Amino acid sequence: MSVPGPWLRTARAAGLVDADGIVQATVFARMSAIAASRGAINLGQGFPDYDGPAEVLAAAARAIADGANQYPPGRGIPALRRAIAAHQRRFHGLEWDADTEVLVTAGATEAIAASVLALVEPGDEVVVVEPFYDSYAALVGLAGGQLVAVPASAPDFLPEAGRLVDAIRDRTRVVLLNSPHNPTGAMLPAETLRAVVDAAARHDAVIVSDEVYEHLGFRAEHVSIAAVPGARERSITISSAAKTFSVTGWKVGWITAPAPLLDAVLAVKQFLTYVNGAPFQPAVALGLGLPDAVFDAAASALDARRARLTTALESAGFTVNRPHGGYFLIADGTPLELTDAVTAAELLVDRAGVVAIPVTAFVTPGSRAAYAPYLRFAFCKRDEVIDEAAARLAAFRP
Ligand code: PMP
Ligand code: GLN
Repeated sequence: MSVPGPWLRTARAAGLVDADGIVQATVFARMSAIAASRGAINLGQGFPDYDGPAEVLAAAARAIADGANQYPPGRGIPALRRAIAAHQRRFHGLEWDADTEVLVTAGATEAIAASVLALVEPGDEVVVVEPFYDSYAALVGLAGGQLVAVPASAPDFLPEAGRLVDAIRDRTRVVLLNSPHNPTGAMLPAETLRAVVDAAARHDAVIVSDEVYEHLGFRAEHVSIAAVPGARERSITISSAAKTFSVTGWKVGWITAPAPLLDAVLAVKQFLTYVNGAPFQPAVALGLGLPDAVFDAAASALDARRARLTTALESAGFTVNRPHGGYFLIADGTPLELTDAVTAAELLVDRAGVVAIPVTAFVTPGSRAAYAPYLRFAFCKRDEVIDEAAARLAAFRP
């Protein structure tokens, strides 16, 4: 039976339809499955193999025991919305009304999905920086929008501000930013953010800012988009408990946005998931109120893991970028004559038992050649896991 519908556009936009027309699972799911079935070390999918703050985990267990097991309010429980507003004030100096300008979502994934589906009409343009997180192209495809990808090249993987600004025009409905960035670890400089905000204002575009790695910056201070003059009224800021508290399986994310934009997103969100994760919400509320030292320690521990994996990859012969934040680094296989990362990823699984992800999974089909030598490695892993990967990589011969 042939099944009509936008699903195929979604899968095509994400590059998930193979030569035989078969729709593949996402590269993250495929690589994690390969890692599990082959006993390989999974430096592919970005999830930590360690737990976050014990008090946050205990609060969720307590909430279940205390009966927080039925539908919570659609916008999220008041305690979490208040904690998100307090967090935005404390870390970014931003004021948001917990009742009208904060929305809890099923992870950042749903926040991105509901924002794109709420705002993008067929034919509207959505500007992204390439490489980009995989769900962006898929959702723009689902909405029938046109993806406009502005390249960011090695070594810093920052887009040229001028090119980004030129890409924003009257047909642009959304500028979808991500800083710190997955997969490159780049953080957009304040002057680029300012230029984007000015261009978005000129062309009446909405900025959707994916800031899930906001607390995992190690080389620069994260600037939340709404702190940029002129941005607040036209931006949807997205974050998630997943990375900040090492709970990617909880799927608790949130949006802060002015009420008219938030209501638009809520109109869609309430039919995607209705509500989400009752017992996790008080736990995340508690986490958001933990002292600065907890947030700082998570970022510095991650930076140490980054350094560890960088040393391992450089010793194995790769050239490695220096990410500003997030879970990932980019390794260039050119010095090892590995100029095609899809092949390189296969060799790494076969000969080293280490899983990484080709950066071509994060770009439009026309740009695959430009990003062919790059592999994304996740360093949000325990020291002993990184050390075992290092030993395997040291013995790796392409
Ligand atoms: N955006 C980016 C850039 C991500 O890396 C991820 C998860 N890895 C998400 C969104 C999704 O976050 P969540 O798990 O909260 O849905
Ligand atoms: N965001 C994680 C990554 O980039 C994976 C999340 C997912 O598989 N959707 O690896």
